Amino acid sequence: MIPPSSLKWQQYQALLELLPEQHPTHPQIVEKFRITDIGETSEDSLEFFLRQANVPSLTFIKRLRIEENIPFQIDWLVLASSFRVLFEVKGHNGEIHFDAKANQLTRSKEGITESFTDPILQVDRQYANLRTFLIDQQKESLPTYRYAVFVNPRVILKLNDYPEFARVITGQAVPFVLEKHSQKHPPIDPKVSNQHLAALLIQHHHEKLSPILEKHHILWEDLKKGIPCPRCQNRAMIRERMRWQCIKCEHRSTDAHIPVLYALALLTQNRLTSKLVQDFLQLESLEATRKLIKRAGYIKFGVKKAVYYAHPELLTITKSKSGHKSIESGHKV
Ligand SMILES: [Zn+2]
Repeated sequence: MIPPSSLKWQQYQALLELLPEQHPTHPQIVEKFRITDIGETSEDSLEFFLRQANVPSLTFIKRLRIEENIPFQIDWLVLASSFRVLFEVKGHNGEIHFDAKANQLTRSKEGITESFTDPILQVDRQYANLRTFLIDQQKESLPTYRYAVFVNPRVILKLNDYPEFARVITGQAVPFVLEKHSQKHPPIDPKVSNQHLAALLIQHHHEKLSPILEKHHILWEDLKKGIPCPRCQNRAMIRERMRWQCIKCEHRSTDAHIPVLYALALLTQNRLTSKLVQDFLQLESLEATRKLIKRAGYIKFGVKKAVYYAHPELLTITKSKSGHKSIESGHKV
């Protein structure tokens, strides 16, 4: 499966929820999250234009990342029955100049000039990798078009003598581009082949969980402990008769620990130990902690002191099953 937001985005969001504002690294994490969020919001915004195309039976795949030989990521892949399209999405604003000779973009904004790599080179490289993957999978090759799409309405594109100018477009042009290719390659037949191919690609989707705390030199002790109340956000709720009770607003919950467990799974590279969970949830008994983790559907790996628990969906996305040795494989609640 492909999660609606990348694991990187989810990790930074989880970290921001648990990191106290007065922590010295807080501003750095806010900035990291902001940049990741802008990128993904730009990518997401293309969906509106994709769905406006008047072409039957299109399949859209967002943020596909494959790591068979060389890792590659495609912002949007559009599958039609007789052609395919790759879109590399850019959210830049300001004035963008294309330099064909240097294969570079420069942006001038508020007196500052910045350079970026040529998105057409990027999308052509993704296509080369996708093509290799499809050949390996013995899938049919179809005409495949590649575009760089600038989705920010405040961008000014200065294409000058850039030879690939026709492949640099704005979001609004996307439905027209798809309709043009559909007229050129009228649908042969079925939706079926698309669905099979989409399922195969999504099955190969692969993301990583980075050791985000280590990366930013944040200690577990630095993070906020306890379960926040889902109603009033007060920390921490107390455990009473198998339920969570807010001491401020008296709200009761049976599952307020689920988001905290998921956040911890994101931050531990999907290796929760009962000790860590006990500490974070401020539970008295280690045995009750283990039961809580298992009831939440986590899968147990390892033996004795090396036991840890993994979130099943995260296992699928990170494809790290082979690295885990399950002693109760397939256990799900
Ligand atoms: Zn409350």
